[in-house]
Amino acid sequence: AKSRYANAFEIYRPEMRRAKDAEAELVGEMKRGLDRNEFVLQFQPIIAARGGGIRSFEALVRWNHPRRGQLAPAEFIPAAENSGLIFHLGNRVLLDACAAAASWTAPVGVAVNLSPIQFQDGQLAMRVREALEASGLAPHRLDLEVTESLLLDPTPTVIRMIAELRALGVKITMDDFGTGFSSLGNLRRFRFDRLKIDRSFTEELASGEETAEIVRTIVRLAATLRMETVLEGVENERQEVFAKLEGLDEVQGFFYAKPMNGDAVNRLLAERAEGTRP
Ligand code: C2E
Ligand code: CA
Ligand code: CA
Ligand code: CA
Repeated sequence: AKSRYANAFEIYRPEMRRAKDAEAELVGEMKRGLDRNEFVLQFQPIIAARGGGIRSFEALVRWNHPRRGQLAPAEFIPAAENSGLIFHLGNRVLLDACAAAASWTAPVGVAVNLSPIQFQDGQLAMRVREALEASGLAPHRLDLEVTESLLLDPTPTVIRMIAELRALGVKITMDDFGTGFSSLGNLRRFRFDRLKIDRSFTEELASGEETAEIVRTIVRLAATLRMETVLEGVENERQEVFAKLEGLDEVQGFFYAKPMNGDAVNRLLAERAEGTRP
C-alpha cells in the first residue's frame, strides 16, 4: 500500500520526480567519484580541556567534485545513505582515516563518523578490523562516532556489531548528544566511551543559565556512567572557560582549529609534540 501511494503522489508532483532524478544523477557521479578518488578527508583536532594537548583528530569527508567544487557531507551523505553507497564510501573513509592516523608523527587518536546504515549489513566490525590491520593502527586510537538514532530501536544486528566493535578494542563516542532521543536505559546498557555534547548547546550557553545547567547535568550523567565528555562547536573563549570550569574532558571547535588536510595535521603535530591520549 505504501508504494501505491508513493506512486500516486509522484504522478501529481512532478517536482518530486525531478528531485529523484537529481539524486539518481548524484549517486552516479558519486560512484565515479569513488573510483577517481574524489573523496578526501579533512581533520579537526580534539583537545584536552585541561592541558590543551591534542588528543585526536575527527575525520570529516569532503567531495572534490569535478564541476561543483568541494562539497560538504550534508550535500551527499543523505544520497549515499538512501542508495546504499554509504557502505562503499564509509569503508573508504575508514581505510583512509586509519592509514592517515598510522602515518602521523604522534600517537594521537582518529575519530570516524559512522552512519547508522553502516551497522545494518553485519559487516562493519569486519571492515573496521580490516582497516586496523591494513594500517597497523592500534585499536585504542580509533574512535567511532555514532549518533543517538542508532540506539532508537536497535536490531539484533546492530547489537551484535556494537559488541564485536567493543571486542576489537576501538572506542565509541555518542555524537551530537542531546539532539536525538537517547533513552537513559540505552545509554547505560551500551555505555560507550565518550559523549560528545552537540554544538547547539555550546551555541546557546551565552543565552542563559538553563542551557548551562543542562550541560552540567549531562556532564554529571556521563561521570556516573564513567564516560568521557567532549564539547563540540567551541568558537570563543567564554565557551572554553565554561568547558574547563565544568570539567569537560575534551573540546573541539573553530576556536582551536578548523578542519585541515593531512599535511597540516603533520605540521601541527610537529609544532606541539606533547599531545598523546591516555
Ligand atoms: P559532526 O559529526 O557533528 O561534525 C562536526 C561538524 O561541525 C563538521 O562539519 C565541522 O566542520 C563543523 N564544526 C566543527 N567545529 C565547528 C565550530 O566551532 N563551529 C561551527 N559552526 N561548526 C563547526 P562538516 O564537516 O560539514 O560535517 C557535517 C556532518 O557530516 C558531520 O557532523 C557528520 O555528521 C557528517 N560527516 C562528516 N564526515 C562524515 C563521514 O565520513 N561519514 C559520515 N557518515 N558522516 C560524516
Ligand atoms: Ca562527529
Ligand atoms: Ca558532532
Ligand atoms: Ca553536531
